[in-house]
Amino acid sequence: MTSAAFVATKTPSVAIVRVSCPTCHKEIPGDYLVCPFCGSVTQ
Ligand SMILES: [Zn+2]
Repeated sequence: MTSAAFVATKTPSVAIVRVSCPTCHKEIPGDYLVCPFCGSVTQ
């Protein structure tokens, strides 16, 4: 039995969280403290 193959095909849970800038409403990565588009602080 090769049941290990099913475990290997599992998708990694490294999804990047995206947030919307409160000023320009562009989608930016969640780990960005400052919006790269308008320079507004997002947190
Ligand atoms: Zn912005």
